[in-house]
Amino acid sequence: MKKENMQFETLCLHADENKRDEWGTINSPICQASTFVHKGVNVDNDFTYTRLSNPTRAHLENTLAVLEGGAAAFAFSSGMAALTCVMQLFTPPAHFIASEDLYGGSLRLFNTLKSLGYTFDFVDTGDISAVKKLINKDTKAIYCETPSNPLMQVSDIAALAELAKKSNLLLIVDNTFLTPYFQKPLKLGADIVIHSATKFLGGHNDTLAGFAVVNSQELAERVKYIANTNGACLAPFDCFLIERGIKTLPVRMDRINENAQVIAHWLKTRKEVKKVYYAGFEDHAGYAVSKKQTTGFGGMISIEVESKELAEKILGGVKVFQYAESLGGVESLITYPMKQTHADLTEEERNRRGINDRFLRLSTGIENASDLIADLKQAFEK
Ligand SMILES: *Cc1c(COP(=O)(O)O)cnc(C)c1O
Repeated sequence: MKKENMQFETLCLHADENKRDEWGTINSPICQASTFVHKGVNVDNDFTYTRLSNPTRAHLENTLAVLEGGAAAFAFSSGMAALTCVMQLFTPPAHFIASEDLYGGSLRLFNTLKSLGYTFDFVDTGDISAVKKLINKDTKAIYCETPSNPLMQVSDIAALAELAKKSNLLLIVDNTFLTPYFQKPLKLGADIVIHSATKFLGGHNDTLAGFAVVNSQELAERVKYIANTNGACLAPFDCFLIERGIKTLPVRMDRINENAQVIAHWLKTRKEVKKVYYAGFEDHAGYAVSKKQTTGFGGMISIEVESKELAEKILGGVKVFQYAESLGGVESLITYPMKQTHADLTEEERNRRGINDRFLRLSTGIENASDLIADLKQAFEK
């Protein structure tokens, strides 16, 4: 069967049949090697040194390139390592227009880059005319997270891609929250996709990893050069773990998606919950865009509860949900963005955006939804 005819679920297992082993193993073997014996002087080796490439990593990268519909994918030791590499594609003076609601670590990186001559404007990237107004002669790229972290703002990827193309900019999309199972930014016109594979792709809260996926051979060559130079490549064993996670991505995402839907609706019925941020509500401002560009809403929900005391009671009282940073794994997690992912923002900035001491973020796992609801209920009422 040709790859072009395979469905996504099949591709998660069979996108790259070249496992580069001699024994016919079902899985891609872990090639735990730093170096490879040259076949001869003036003979090209497929692999020479693991910082540049490795058979286990090549298998994983080929798989993700197919799943995202990109020209090539590169696996890094974390999502932040992937983003750092992509930012090095640009030489200052370089101006970027980025989603104002952003993963805290990405924001920290951008702030760090300011001293090197990079400049940033932050805006609701769901508002195309606002993005357009910020383009100047130094603008190199639009950077977007959709849905965004932690406010679940939705941006129209195809519309941003059209604007980027017209203005000769690159469009970079962080696809961590939905994964290619629910959203394929490159197919909608984006140039580069970033992943924290630590989250849904790996899916088991046990491995740190990241990806950059690009839409052209030209970008692939440049990213490959920088990745090899920086050396933040994903180790063979971790490649194996992420590959293993990807095999079950569709079944996990389906359950996570269902659980989030049920829990978001339940949260809405609770009087102590003042606001529920969830992209799957029909009255969400980005609902029509989500329906157009995604096949699922994902597992992320944020809430504002009535008091700081209640927020702390919930964090201390949950037993099935785990009070822990991160998201996207099989275990449901709950975090306090003010103290964790978004602790670096000024208090004024956090309050302006509603990331206050009453604000919590939930990531639904694959447990039974009624157990998750019972757990939240006992924590609310304790
Ligand atoms: C976690 C996360 C990152 C950073 O990835 P790491 O693997 O933790 O380095 C980037 N973007 C988003 C949306 C994330 O959730």
